[in-house]
Amino acid sequence: MTAKKSRPLILVSNDDGIFSNGIKALAETAAEFGDIEVVAPDRQQSAVGHAITVTTPLRARPFQLDNRFSGRAVNGTPADCIKLAHDKLLDRKPDLVVSGINHGSNAGINIIYSGTVSAATEGTVLGYPSIAFSCTDYDEDADMTGCREAARRVIRYVLDNGLKRGVTLNVNAPSGPLKGLRWARQAESRYVEEFEGRVDPHNRDYYWMTGKFELLEQNGGSDIDILEKGFASITPIQYDLTAKDVLRSLENTEL
Ligand code: MN
Repeated sequence: MTAKKSRPLILVSNDDGIFSNGIKALAETAAEFGDIEVVAPDRQQSAVGHAITVTTPLRARPFQLDNRFSGRAVNGTPADCIKLAHDKLLDRKPDLVVSGINHGSNAGINIIYSGTVSAATEGTVLGYPSIAFSCTDYDEDADMTGCREAARRVIRYVLDNGLKRGVTLNVNAPSGPLKGLRWARQAESRYVEEFEGRVDPHNRDYYWMTGKFELLEQNGGSDIDILEKGFASITPIQYDLTAKDVLRSLENTEL
């Protein structure tokens, strides 16, 4: 007789904070597949990238998400949440780490600034299959029907098939119903920063960043191209940043 396989444990995090609508949507969707543990920042942590907290202590406060899911609200970054969950907070190791659903696109260059993607990347670093989910609509109350369906399909695929070590999946979906899900590469893009300068009541200058997104390519098959056509995009990404083709071309060069 074989022992009944226990339900998968799915660790859920994000960067918008544990109070966001997106993390509720993701916890509910993931709960269709397994047991849920939510460990997420106790406040908005968007665009903190892969920052970790090393000079102040971390605290994890018990939290009931929607009275359905037990969770911990952490006074740290998304990457902190995954590291702390892995090392101290969970009773068993997760079978899957999911992050999101972020309020706003994490396509193109947004990937490197995103705390949502970094929570998933940290899961990958620790050896867990990990997926980041984002809704391209920044509205907190956006219709996430299609994002949930994209999440459902990708979670099912990864639980059934696993994921290559070192690779994270980055999923973006428009608001509204799901038109379809397409594999895509990261679009070449950047922000051109424009700072609005102001003066405070003490006569000191301060600045607000008001970056403008710039798409540097018009080729088909990028995440942004797929999203503009109304589909959800799915991009395999990796944290090994070595430019392997350049290394190969330079490795016999004496310096
Ligand atoms: Mn965010």
